[in-house]
Amino acid sequence: MANRLTIAIDGPGSSGKGTIARRVAKDLGFQYIDTGAMYRSVALVASRRGVSWEDAEALGELTRGLRFEFAFSGDALTVSVDGEDVSTAIRTPEVGRGASDVSTHGPVRTSLVAVQQQLGARGGVVMDGRDIGTVVLPDAQLKVFLDANLDERARRRHRELLEKGGDASFDAIRQALAERDHQDRTRAISPLAAAEDAVVLDSTDLTIEGAAAVVLSLAQDRTS
Ligand code: C5P
Repeated sequence: MANRLTIAIDGPGSSGKGTIARRVAKDLGFQYIDTGAMYRSVALVASRRGVSWEDAEALGELTRGLRFEFAFSGDALTVSVDGEDVSTAIRTPEVGRGASDVSTHGPVRTSLVAVQQQLGARGGVVMDGRDIGTVVLPDAQLKVFLDANLDERARRRHRELLEKGGDASFDAIRQALAERDHQDRTRAISPLAAAEDAVVLDSTDLTIEGAAAVVLSLAQDRTS
């Protein structure tokens, strides 16, 4: 039964959910599905094809034609779209902004949610995003809403960017995160929110290991 468990992890940007979801999936031998990477991929492909991030219908059509694949090599997650590895290309701040824009459109969400539900249907999955516990997998056995205060999230993202050789200022990153949070929490369709039955976990003062341990122990509770 343990390997059929479905785990939904939602939260704002840089709350640590991706790293924690990955850690939990690895420990349990589950599949990890990064739904943010899907919205990022739509934004990336749209800008390459000259489709506006505001054009709901064209974006919907584009999204319906995409084929996503996720694979692990060691700890690194490879995201492929139509056979092309886009793992690095989707991680820029510009594509992050685009992801937040394209994710406001119903046709894009409908198409991606269907793919995500299919991926989650068999269980044995850790899926992270903004609407997993509320919309994509409302029957998930474990839902976690991972939060952290804005300054701590900005510090984490800043550190990540510097490690990758980027040079944005802390203030610019903090500002961009705050704007994206606002857009994600206030959009009309599937806004970022904790499901009523989610466990809210504040990771501000926790290490990744500490937060992952909490989620793993919650997962154990659900299987015992
Ligand atoms: O998690 P990540 O930062 O990669 O997500 C990028 C953007 O994609 C988010 O800011 C959000 O607007 C959108 N998103 C979403 N629903 C999800 C996952 C991501 O709307 N399930």
